[in-house]
Amino acid sequence: MIVAIDGPAGAGKSSVARALALRLGFRYLDTGAMYRALTWLAEQRRVELDDVTALVALARSHPVEFGEGGGVFIAGHDVTAEIRSPVIDSSVPIVARHPEVREVMRERQRELGEQGDSVIEGRDIGEIVAPHAEVKVWLQADPAVRAERRHAEREGIAADELAEEMQRRDERDRINTHRAEDAVEIDTTHLELEQVVDLIETLVQQKVGA
Ligand code: C5P
Repeated sequence: MIVAIDGPAGAGKSSVARALALRLGFRYLDTGAMYRALTWLAEQRRVELDDVTALVALARSHPVEFGEGGGVFIAGHDVTAEIRSPVIDSSVPIVARHPEVREVMRERQRELGEQGDSVIEGRDIGEIVAPHAEVKVWLQADPAVRAERRHAEREGIAADELAEEMQRRDERDRINTHRAEDAVEIDTTHLELEQVVDLIETLVQQKVGA
């Protein structure tokens, strides 16, 4: 079974997807981490972020790997912590907007998703990466709450600066953010993590029951 969880930054995707996967005993696939890792590698190798040919070559020759404990690896580097930085936050949409790059990433995402029951989080999962997903969820939250959540995760950046940065990233990501028509929308603004996980677990049980 595939559970697709899509939505904008700060809507709660990662925490929800991780907790849900743990509860269900499913694999957890963070597709944002894959774009972040590729962006990290491009910066390391001084590849221009608009050099599509070089980015595609980099993505093809260095598939992102996930460790047992949720670590993110690319080209032999553990980049788990480094990919969660304001610099990567702002450059990743530049890399992710190239259709040719997305094609390589999506191939890899499908390959990883086929390895067993999975919770896959991203922005285009229910619509494009896994349109056959049995459960599709679209997470949403008020922009102020989303910025607050992200602020708790990022050191050294002021709250208002972060809110602006998130808005900029939303705009840049809009073209690649798709809400599948058959996705169930959950507004997480006033919900605790466990409540969101409960709601999605119920959707999964309904599918299993059907
Ligand atoms: O989810 P997260 O904030 O970690 O995603 C980082 C970036 O990766 C997004 O801002 C977006 O540019 C890109 N992304 C994407 N498609 C996905 C997941 C992430 O374009 N499925």
